[in-house]
Amino acid sequence: MKTPTQTNAIDFDSAKLQRLGFGQPSLVPRRPTTITQLRQQLGLQLQTSLEPERILGVFFREIQRLVPLDALQYRHQASDLRLEFGHRGHHTVSYSLSHEGEHLGELIFRRNQRLVEEELGQLESLLATLLYPMRNALLYRAATRSALRDPLTETGNRIAMDQTLQREIDMARRHLNPLSLLMLDIDHFKVINDTHGHAAGDTVLRAVAAAIKSQLRNVDMVFRFGGEEFLILLSNTGRDAAAMVGERLRQAAQTQDYRADGTRIELTVSLGCSTLLAAESAESLLRRADSALYVAKREGRNRLAMAG
Ligand code: GH3
Ligand code: MG
Ligand code: MG
Repeated sequence: MKTPTQTNAIDFDSAKLQRLGFGQPSLVPRRPTTITQLRQQLGLQLQTSLEPERILGVFFREIQRLVPLDALQYRHQASDLRLEFGHRGHHTVSYSLSHEGEHLGELIFRRNQRLVEEELGQLESLLATLLYPMRNALLYRAATRSALRDPLTETGNRIAMDQTLQREIDMARRHLNPLSLLMLDIDHFKVINDTHGHAAGDTVLRAVAAAIKSQLRNVDMVFRFGGEEFLILLSNTGRDAAAMVGERLRQAAQTQDYRADGTRIELTVSLGCSTLLAAESAESLLRRADSALYVAKREGRNRLAMAG
């Protein structure tokens, strides 16, 4: 059976929010606050963070003083953001949030019990308190993300890599999970630049990044390490599984269609793979992948070598 879904669009600029339940005393005596008090309180509380997760977490917790809910989901495609609070309920109401034509995401409220008209009015009124906090948080997120990305290939940059690598090592150690690293380098890339020009080289770099990402579940773990070198972090992946991923990446890079001036460019990559040892540092893990890559190059390129 399909669960009933109500969909609504909220434009923060329209006067529609004023429509229902605004400033009226609550009809249910058990509820400890009025909507005006709650709006004021949220207005102050939500300003204190720039993290979407924290803002929506506080919002979800506090609005339940007036409107009990089972779950809240949030999606914002443009910033690749999906958040979920609580557990699933049968009935859903969704709101598409926008301000001055800017899309601020989609909110889905869930509850096992159907939401009544008065509650919907209250929810809509409370949604207004999210406007500036969420807009600021999304702007902040976009700014920090762009500071961590390589604009040419749309992969993580060195700063992102350093942060992520250390975090993944800490996590792997805490949960006793394996962690592997692949270092990938384009073979004879200089020849491509020399033959077809730097712009064609850039296009090829982008295509190689796309080929890598197309093979991975978590594209947030691909980083541009140097000019024509990429680093791929494989969480919860041991040596054998990493070797299979590496081989898959090698093949994907080779079969990708690269073109300059209408002609096909042949291209291969070499890879080195290392798997985290007990008490090993990030530097050592990187060094071992780099040494393995050197072996792959020396033994003829277009291959994967495993660190000892
Ligand atoms: P090998 O198989 O040993 O890796 O040979 P290679 O030619 O790929 O390696 P080498 O390190 O000699 O040359 C790498 C080249 O990559 C040289 C540099 O000009 C080029 N390169 C680095 N960054 C960029 C970039 O952003 N765009 C373009 N088009 N070329 C780049
Ligand atoms: Mg190279
Ligand atoms: Mg190189």
